[in-house]
Amino acid sequence: MAASLNTVETDVLVVGGGGAGTRAALESARAGAKTVLAVKGRFNSVGVHGAGATGVGLSEAGAFFYFDPKTGYPLIDPDEWGPISLEEILELDYQVIIQVGQGMADPKLARVMVQEAVPQRQQIEEWGVQIHGDRLRHHGLPLMAALGRQIQQTDVDVREEVAITDLLTHDGKCVGAVGVDFQGNAIVFKAGAVVLCTGGDAGLYRHNFHPPDVNGDGHAMAYQAGATLMNMEFGQFFISPLPAVTHPSAVWLFQPGARLKNGQGDEFLPGYLPSGITSEQVFAARTYQPMFTTANVSKYADIAMMKETLAGRAGPNGGVLLDLTDPSVVTRSIYAEGWLAKRGIDAAERPLEIVPARHCSHGGPRIDEHGRTDVPGLYAGGGESASGPQGADRMGGHMLGSGQVFGTRAGRDAARFATENARDDLPADVVEQGLERIRSLEALRGQVRPRDVKRELRRQVSEDLNVIRSEAACDRVLQTVARIRDETFPRLAIQEPMDRMEAMELLNMLTVTEMVSKTVAMRTESRGGHYREDYPEQDDAQWLKSITIRKERDGMELGTLALDPEWKDRTDLLKGVSFAGGRQE
Ligand SMILES: Cc1cc2nc3c(=O)[nH]c(=O)nc-3n(C[C@H](O)[C@H](O)[C@H](O)COP(=O)(O)OP(=O)(O)OC[C@H]3O[C@@H](n4cnc5c(N)ncnc54)[C@H](O)[C@@H]3O)c2cc1C
Repeated sequence: MAASLNTVETDVLVVGGGGAGTRAALESARAGAKTVLAVKGRFNSVGVHGAGATGVGLSEAGAFFYFDPKTGYPLIDPDEWGPISLEEILELDYQVIIQVGQGMADPKLARVMVQEAVPQRQQIEEWGVQIHGDRLRHHGLPLMAALGRQIQQTDVDVREEVAITDLLTHDGKCVGAVGVDFQGNAIVFKAGAVVLCTGGDAGLYRHNFHPPDVNGDGHAMAYQAGATLMNMEFGQFFISPLPAVTHPSAVWLFQPGARLKNGQGDEFLPGYLPSGITSEQVFAARTYQPMFTTANVSKYADIAMMKETLAGRAGPNGGVLLDLTDPSVVTRSIYAEGWLAKRGIDAAERPLEIVPARHCSHGGPRIDEHGRTDVPGLYAGGGESASGPQGADRMGGHMLGSGQVFGTRAGRDAARFATENARDDLPADVVEQGLERIRSLEALRGQVRPRDVKRELRRQVSEDLNVIRSEAACDRVLQTVARIRDETFPRLAIQEPMDRMEAMELLNMLTVTEMVSKTVAMRTESRGGHYREDYPEQDDAQWLKSITIRKERDGMELGTLALDPEWKDRTDLLKGVSFAGGRQE
């Protein structure tokens, strides 16, 4: 099947129709730029291709409530704070981001994020999104609906079912992109600026909470275009129930009195605990903390689960069993109760099978406060970028807000850049070079379906770049990447229109997997959600710096960047208070 070619010309191309991308497109159009919004699926849909994490619908706009000093979780309305001033709340929020980021968060971006949370909250409330102190109110879908209504009042050209796969560069600038639509046709976008809001790389993992459209395309495209990426080794794993990986609320099921059992029915956590640490302490630390982090003793639960699984003692669906049937267990969390009740599950009757699942990445293209990468004309925002609240760990509840803050900023600056810089006619070889990878698919005549290879890669990543990491595990992943590139890829079958998109996704996933493996291997310490079995301690003497990665002539070049080595000095209001990714110890 030969792909046909369409060409679209615009000032600004926004890639990704989640909360960040839609906001970037809106602000770009309002700033007077001709704007195209390309979405890998249906725009403003729910839970399918195109929805991204925002369209999963479970997110709460926590950054707009600021945080609860009792739990460290940012879900409280400022009205409830009594004598504390809004300025103090914002300063506390900033300091918590810095502390949880452990030297890996960009203080300038964190400051912007916090300062603009208040006007952003007012703006989205004016658009009809109701934000209250109610902990169970989900804002992702209302936010998307409100943004969709705003987009309808502009002339943003929304292109659905288009996967952008490669960026066009000329004279060191980003000048557009190419992609494939769901019918298998190639499309060229000539643009004055491109904003990547593709949501991150959760789809690298077999178990993740995202719809199937978020696979790391933006990371790979930014890398190929010459942008610097950073913090690629950091991200979050939550606990998910099995077999359906749909909702992270099950994390709130960890309760003192719970027991972890393997597929053979044996309780295993006590066997993994160092002397002096009890299961009760581990579960108590994990009760209000959604993510795996090395910052406190809760880590032993996730590490033990992963070890049992890797040792071949998993449950029927590949997870382990969380047994809450002991009558002493009190399911305290309204999250867990609501989640269980809705599904008719009685955790007092039978154990739940659970697994660590990828919640988000914290890395991506490095941006400045306007969402600019270091490639002129290329921007990034939302879950795709290494932006405001992200570091070694990140506070829960801040990403919807971050998407609005940096989506707004990126959209406006991209519009300015595109209208100030005249778009020259692109030499034909620039477009041809951009199309090279898509065109190379024409030669594939094998029998292997791209989606099967993606599945194989995900399996390997889920084993070796999950909660437990090591140099040997990184080597295994890199060997798999090389084997798929050299041996499997040439044997791919491009039989159906969607195979083209899946093959391009596979290529991008290979690039991102290589980046994650190399940065994980380089960071010879444990910090935040990054746990090295062979380097289990945090090493501030060596590692108070982020790892950067960029494309050079000889391949991936890794470097370091000391973003915030004095982070402890910025957290004076939190003296004596230790937060671990959202929970006060
Ligand atoms: C289950 C869950 C619960 C969460 N809870 C919270 C919470 O309580 N509070 C909070 O603040 N945050 C929460 N988050 C995080 C938050 O939802 C996300 O960080 C945020 O929605 C990301 O928005 P985004 O626009 O950057 O990306 P997404 O919403 O993921 O959108 C990405 C978009 O990019 C498109 N795309 C991807 N690749 C391509 C391509 N190659 N070409 C074209 N389009 C492409 C996708 O189709 C999609 O439209 C949660 C996330 C999940 C998954």
